[in-house]
Amino acid sequence: MNDDHEHHDHNHNDSRHHDHEHEHKHEEKSPQAIRAEALESLLIEKGLLSEHAVDDVITNYAQRVGPMNGALLVARAWTDPEFKQRLLSNATQAIAEYDFKGGQVDHLVVVENTPERHNAVVCTLCSCYPWAVLGLPPKWYKDPAYRSRIVREPRTLLAEMGLSLDTNIEIRVWDSSAEVRYMVLPMRPENTDNLTQDELAALVSRDSMIGVEVLCQAGQSS
Ligand code: FE
Repeated sequence: MNDDHEHHDHNHNDSRHHDHEHEHKHEEKSPQAIRAEALESLLIEKGLLSEHAVDDVITNYAQRVGPMNGALLVARAWTDPEFKQRLLSNATQAIAEYDFKGGQVDHLVVVENTPERHNAVVCTLCSCYPWAVLGLPPKWYKDPAYRSRIVREPRTLLAEMGLSLDTNIEIRVWDSSAEVRYMVLPMRPENTDNLTQDELAALVSRDSMIGVEVLCQAGQSS
């Protein structure tokens, strides 16, 4: 059956068909990405949007907002117990003084990792994410596989993503929504007592604030 099918195709001797197949192997754009691109070019064509405006938005989130705002908060929480307390009890209020741009933090909840408990963040429904503190969500955050597996089998999935947690560490997964967005406060790496807040902030990765990574601890190989 398979052979027949192949022969059938080849008998057409249609090189175009071959190209078409070839193209498909390399095209991995999601329907959403294709739709977004189509919409963008339509809006530009109609003069409703300039290419610049789109690029500006992307640059803004990717470079200016980025995860640096979150890293700044983490570093301050590590060095300022009073701020940490405020951050954990009402993050939206605690970060108001920063006037971070980017939005999506009207109801921000910060959850703290401890030696006993690890937190991870997901949006099971779509891709809700606290833009103002973490920038643009990574591609995998929007992946249906991550969204379902982090809930069903967090330990296995985290291990596959490079984070093996001891079985005595409880894993808690927080499901973001249109209302509430979460950010993880990772544990401070050991032997960082002498670092300034800026130096500490530089150690904080985006993934550690989503909870799929822990920051390197002294004496740990990874
Ligand atoms: Fe969502």
